[in-house]
Amino acid sequence: MSPKSNKVENASVETSRHARYVEPSYETTNAAGLDLSCLGPATVALHADDPLNVVADVAPPIHVATTFRYPHDPAQLRPLYDRPEPYVLDPTEHVYSRATTHNSSRLEAILGALLHNDSLVYSSGLSAGHALMTVVNPGKISIGAGYHGFHATIGLHQRLAGSTVLPLDCKPEELGEGDLIWLETPVNPTGLAFNIQHLADKAHSRGAYLAVDSTFAPPPLQDPFEQGADFVMHSGTKYIGGHSDLLCGVLSAKDKSWYKRLYSDRLVMGNVVGGLESWLAVRSLRTLELRITRESASAQHLVQALHGALMGQATVKGLAACDIHIVRRVVKEVQHASLQTQDRQDWLDKQMPNGFGPVFSITMQEEEDARKFPSKLQLYHHATSLGGVESLIEWRYMTDNTVDKDLLRLSIGVENVNDLLADLLQGFRQLVKEKV
Ligand SMILES: *Cc1c(COP(=O)(O)O)cnc(C)c1O
Repeated sequence: MSPKSNKVENASVETSRHARYVEPSYETTNAAGLDLSCLGPATVALHADDPLNVVADVAPPIHVATTFRYPHDPAQLRPLYDRPEPYVLDPTEHVYSRATTHNSSRLEAILGALLHNDSLVYSSGLSAGHALMTVVNPGKISIGAGYHGFHATIGLHQRLAGSTVLPLDCKPEELGEGDLIWLETPVNPTGLAFNIQHLADKAHSRGAYLAVDSTFAPPPLQDPFEQGADFVMHSGTKYIGGHSDLLCGVLSAKDKSWYKRLYSDRLVMGNVVGGLESWLAVRSLRTLELRITRESASAQHLVQALHGALMGQATVKGLAACDIHIVRRVVKEVQHASLQTQDRQDWLDKQMPNGFGPVFSITMQEEEDARKFPSKLQLYHHATSLGGVESLIEWRYMTDNTVDKDLLRLSIGVENVNDLLADLLQGFRQLVKEKV
């Protein structure tokens, strides 16, 4: 079962010998003869897994088996070691749940179609990132601000593989063959965006790769592959799960040979997602587009109102004159990718044609107000994480000591946007009242 060689150069990494190799064909036609490439993401999310539906149930059943019976007919028995390499299991032929399960194969079929390349699901976002670091094994990794947990994952690779870390704006000459640029966009915790194509060109000019953590902009907001990315990662815990009730990570690769190596690695790393989580995630993907477009539009509406007040506009949609005054008393700055488009950044409209994401940040005039504000709200839970149907706010210093203490991160859910704005305003009002 253990690989003879796990060298990256070896495209046919030997793995479990479990299965016959079948090219996954998510993007083409499904069993019902649907050409998924002509369908919108909302339809794809409901039908990409149709060919893997082995029962008459309309809603997918929960499968919890860890092991699966071999064919009864002895003539159909195909011993593991008699199969051609490389080993990628047919998503309908289940042997053992560290390789595939009914629910995780359905999840991967949908994600492959939505992300436009074959996708693998992991036990968490960080384990997906870790899998990428392990398979690429870059000598140098260029990375900027972003999710603090992934910087710790890189620390692990510095320890194990001696990789060096460079800033995101390093000179192209500092990168070499097989190195990696890791870009998170929009970035945690501010929600500001970076130019994917620019960094893809920089990586490729040196024979390096670009991986994009696209957690803050799931489909249909952003397709990093279209902007030149080689790998796309999502913390599926956030928008793909969408209901704050499951942990998973997603990794998608442009090049089929990388996908196969990742598949092989996952089998021996064992960082797979569970059947129950996969079932929850399939349930969630059915409404991905509905949720994301609504949450993103609501975030932009709130950002515009608060930013409009800060910019001294005499009238702001949804705000009374006294509200404008209150916002200016306590808020210092609002950050979100939607505000970047005002600088006529054409690349951003191209990169995020369907909205700028449901997360934004607020900087308060006073640190103490950032600490107090979440407790004044009724509709936002004060909690870490993001991406659920319920709106969250976090005094970000609670879990990330790399950010300033005056920063609040908001993750907008599917509540009525006027209610969400009114709650923020009444919270600001309470803060002001306490000052007099
Ligand atoms: C949450 C998050 C991660 C880590 O994902 P987990 O599922 O918690 O392991 C990575 N990147 C971003 C941008 C995140 O928000």
